[in-house]
Amino acid sequence: MTGKEFMLAAFEAISHNIIEHEEYLNHLDNAIGDGDHGTNMARFSHIILKDLPEFSAAHDDLGEIMHHVGMRCITEIGGSAGPLFGKFFLQASLSNKNNTFMEAANWVLAFEEGTMGVAQIGQSTEGEKTMLDALFPASRAMQETLEEGKSLPEIFLAGAEAAEKGVEFTKTIQASKGRAAYIGQRSIGHQDPGATTVMLMLQSMHKTAVDMHVE
Ligand code: ADP
Ligand code: MG
Repeated sequence: MTGKEFMLAAFEAISHNIIEHEEYLNHLDNAIGDGDHGTNMARFSHIILKDLPEFSAAHDDLGEIMHHVGMRCITEIGGSAGPLFGKFFLQASLSNKNNTFMEAANWVLAFEEGTMGVAQIGQSTEGEKTMLDALFPASRAMQETLEEGKSLPEIFLAGAEAAEKGVEFTKTIQASKGRAAYIGQRSIGHQDPGATTVMLMLQSMHKTAVDMHVE
């Protein structure tokens, strides 16, 4: 079970991880897009580091904290990643409204609903070389690990590993959504930056869960 200490620590870990990889994410986006994905995500991360401690000190409702993060995505990230990650967190927040604690099942459901939200707003699905190629496999792996009765650190690990495989898969396919679709076949061989961000997020969730000894 996790409370808001874990949620704040997880978002802080995610933010630091993204800031550390800003140049790398820009480099990936440069190959198949406009080279701003790292800059976009780092801007958001700096805002989160600045205002989430204060926001979470004043709110116990985990759904409300996630909702706040989603709104920050929409107002701060810009580009296509802003509304997409924004929708992810807004949808993920809905089933946790009024929750001051989240069990493993709450996290898995939140992740699944967030993923569906991205597919809906992006009008996209798996196999189009987007963040969904990390989100959908991670969501399935987390569901399976939950059904096996595993702990939250193991669930996040399964999600992170599935996202890593998803990122590798994006190298092999042609983009049909987002800016990368404009370069068609030339997108093959390059990994998707948005899927890479999802992988970094899940790796940070896993590390935080291990460090904080959550169940
Ligand atoms: P922009 O493309 O506007 O420059 P970013 O570079 O920040 O925005 O984000 C690009 C990422 O957004 C891509 O790597 C991809 O993962 C994701 N993306 C773009 N379009 C879609 C879509 N329709 N559905 C899902 N993800 C998408
Ligand atoms: Mg871009």
